[in-house]
Amino acid sequence: MSERLPCQTPGCTGSILPATALKTGGICMPCQQRKLAEERQAYIEQNRKEVNRYAGIHDPVEILTMMHSPRKPDPLIKEVPYPRTAQELYHGLTEEERGRMESYAVHLLEEEDIDQAETVLVSLLCFTDTRLGPGLEMLLHTGNYSPAILFKDADAQVRDRLIAQVESDPVNRNLLLLALAWIGDEEVVRLFAAWRQSPPEWASALYIAPEMYAREAGWELDAGGGKKQLYHPECYPFLVSREDTLEAPGAPAAVQMLQAGTHACPWCGGALTVLFDYDLKHPQVRFMELPGKRLRIAACMHCNCYGTVYMKADLEGGYAWSEYNVVPGYLPDNTGGALAFNTWHVMQLSEQPAGTYESAYWVLEAPASQIGGHPAWIQDADYPACPCCAQTMTFAAQADMGQVAEDEGIYYAFLCRECLITAVNYQQT
Ligand SMILES: [Zn+2]
Ligand SMILES: [Zn+2]
Ligand SMILES: [Zn+2]
Repeated sequence: MSERLPCQTPGCTGSILPATALKTGGICMPCQQRKLAEERQAYIEQNRKEVNRYAGIHDPVEILTMMHSPRKPDPLIKEVPYPRTAQELYHGLTEEERGRMESYAVHLLEEEDIDQAETVLVSLLCFTDTRLGPGLEMLLHTGNYSPAILFKDADAQVRDRLIAQVESDPVNRNLLLLALAWIGDEEVVRLFAAWRQSPPEWASALYIAPEMYAREAGWELDAGGGKKQLYHPECYPFLVSREDTLEAPGAPAAVQMLQAGTHACPWCGGALTVLFDYDLKHPQVRFMELPGKRLRIAACMHCNCYGTVYMKADLEGGYAWSEYNVVPGYLPDNTGGALAFNTWHVMQLSEQPAGTYESAYWVLEAPASQIGGHPAWIQDADYPACPCCAQTMTFAAQADMGQVAEDEGIYYAFLCRECLITAVNYQQT
């Protein structure tokens, strides 16, 4: 047995065989591997080139198609990101450019690049007011029915095809019901009401009654079989306030987001947070059609991660813990860790309206803090029932913690206007 030699790296206690020492110049294998990795890293840093794929390109359609076809990462290439987001580019597209994007999506579907095709189509739908034509036709032709929001504005011809197919296509039935829910026109409402009256035979194989699919598209049947919308079409986004505007806030906004509350949470002892503080006299929130002065929707940022929290509100700015609250089955101690107010960005309500569905398809990762509009559900739609009158509560606003604090998850706020009860729930991936 040959004698082992000490590794030559200062501070290393490893020992090696003479044969290894010959190969590595006297250092042990772990030290040798570290040295090679460091050399490789140094080489990359010295030789890495910045590459701007977008240099000299001004056509937004070309820029978007490049964004939708990312390259494999190469350690020797540092890609310069485009200075605007895809969402911002979509906002600026002309009708002709939107048509070219839709054609590009059709081309992607032909190439069976389904994910990118769906991203393009759903971006057109949520970020612009495009009514899909050839894109929708191609989705049907290739048997793709998701995301169902793509069928939102589908015409009567597409609707009737889906209605016929839902009877005969058990494999796609779930997706077809979602697509019909998103169409949600008079004919679909009539059909869902008929199904509630006498469930079709295939309904027993579903997890929920067929008419309950409507919730995923933000509506439900009322007692008389009519359509009850669960959100407001009016939508205003909150923007991260830039530092230089902090000094000069101008006129107070219609809704303030994330104010420190004055009460303590009876469950965890932490301070409640006023998620949304509405100035009900402000013209920007007239669409809420609420009399009175102030509506404050409060929550416990901690306990709310584990269950829905209800508050009794008045329209003078008062709020109180609701007698209807039920302690969640699982509720860990509030250690106060992630809830540091001082690390949150200041959020400013925009006076410019946004599209109703701007953040509705969460996968697009559009910033989602807003009042009104369709909720950005991360999981299944979860409109709470009012604990007092049992009616489904209307979506009021949401706080996107990714935008507020590079945190995760979204807090969703709801109101029952008859009982003046607010609810807040939370979803994350
Ligand atoms: Zn060593
Ligand atoms: Zn709490
Ligand atoms: Zn109620």
